[in-house]
Amino acid sequence: MSAERPDFRPGTELATGFTATLTERAGDPVERIPTPQRLLDWLALHGLAADSCTSAQLNRARELREAIHAAATAAATGDPLPTPALQMINDASVQGRSAAVLTPEGERRWQLGASSVEDALSVIAADAVDIIAGERAGRLALCASPTCRAAFFDTSQSRTRKWCDMNTCGNRQKKARFHANHRASRTK
Ligand SMILES: [Zn+2]
Repeated sequence: MSAERPDFRPGTELATGFTATLTERAGDPVERIPTPQRLLDWLALHGLAADSCTSAQLNRARELREAIHAAATAAATGDPLPTPALQMINDASVQGRSAAVLTPEGERRWQLGASSVEDALSVIAADAVDIIAGERAGRLALCASPTCRAAFFDTSQSRTRKWCDMNTCGNRQKKARFHANHRASRTK
């Protein structure tokens, strides 16, 4: 992993996958879309390929990302949705042009009006509207890792998932607990 090209975290939902392009939010944050090219890479990976991206568009994408994070966090904790975040999500949703189309294989694909970053962001914003409004089966929750606190969408059967990602936050917490127990048993 290099500073220019940090890995992407796989996410289950588009909107919370997008907010996971900034990780360790409550610790030492890692920016996973540090350059316009990396935003284009992320979008292409999620079926939202855009033609080009300026620094201003990257900034706007990050603003939308933080707005989704703020609104999803409020939804997860039962707080009122912050007005500026709401405005940002709604604006992004309205501004871009995109349509869902069916492939011959019966899969959904996104068709972007002008293949612009704005078009791609409108799909992400609309996805955020869906999950925050409770239109999809699942529950918004906050990651139990104290250095992460990411808002994630829990679609597990029991709706008791604790970590945004089992392979990173979940694993680290388990290791920390193991070491704590180990220390405790040695001092007995
Ligand atoms: Zn986490």
